[in-house]
Amino acid sequence: MESRWLRFVSLILLLNISLSLPSYSATTKHKSSAKQHHKQSQVTRKTVTKKTVARRSATKTIVHRTASKKTVARKTATAKTISRKTANRRKTVTRVTRTLVANIWSTPINTSPYTPAVRNRINAKFKGGTASRFSSEDMVRAKVFVHYPLKGGIRKRTGGVRFLVLHSTETGRPADARTIVRSWNNIGPRHPGAQYIVDRDGTILQTADPAYATVHVNDRTALGGVNNDNSIGIEIVRSGKQKYTQKQLNSLVALVGYVKDRFNITRICGHGEVQPSDRTDPVAFDWSRFARNLASLQQNQGETQTAYSRLRDGSDG
Ligand SMILES: [Zn+2]
Repeated sequence: MESRWLRFVSLILLLNISLSLPSYSATTKHKSSAKQHHKQSQVTRKTVTKKTVARRSATKTIVHRTASKKTVARKTATAKTISRKTANRRKTVTRVTRTLVANIWSTPINTSPYTPAVRNRINAKFKGGTASRFSSEDMVRAKVFVHYPLKGGIRKRTGGVRFLVLHSTETGRPADARTIVRSWNNIGPRHPGAQYIVDRDGTILQTADPAYATVHVNDRTALGGVNNDNSIGIEIVRSGKQKYTQKQLNSLVALVGYVKDRFNITRICGHGEVQPSDRTDPVAFDWSRFARNLASLQQNQGETQTAYSRLRDGSDG
């Protein structure tokens, strides 16, 4: 009985073991596979996540780059538009100013020439030093002066004219009077320029009615009370080692005589004399000879000599 019972128990145990074994192994298998799957899925997810992140960040970078590129392009375009607008506005202002300034001067002048007889009479008076009653327009119509206007650089005077300032152009290389006036005009609406410029062949260009002021001295550095508002400028064309021509000097004397009498000018000076800090013109100018010639033109030698004595004792320009 005992042995039967034992056999039964052992059979049961055996059965139990044999039954439980596969179940156990299945569970283990299942568990391990689940773990594996979980691991794999984790790996996959990690990879996916990594890839996604990488892709997303790449996309972001690209987007960002594109955006920043776009921003830069937009900013550049905006800057260009602004600079173009500013340039256009400046151009318009320049054009308007030039037109205004040109109108101030060019409107009142009539350049239609007088008859040859009248022209000859005024010319003779000019050369003889007795033309001061003729206006600047008369002188242009008589072809004593050539009307070659400044385009800008002209101001209305606030007071009377007291000074006459002589200059020499001292261009880098020889240039004629017209070229020099054009170069002034190209600088802009507030360019330099004298009312008169005497060319190498004696031709006198009138660039502005001397009733108007031009910019031929530096208002801040000029001495002796001379400024653009109270002075008239005469440029003599000269460059390098050129000597003033006889025709130039003859025209200059007649011109100075005319301007001096017409505007009751009390003092004639050189640019270098009133602006010694940075000017020496008119360069190599013979003031004594000029004074003598002017005096003989005006037949008033004593007075003129006294007026120029100070200049002769000074510098050359
Ligand atoms: Zn000068």
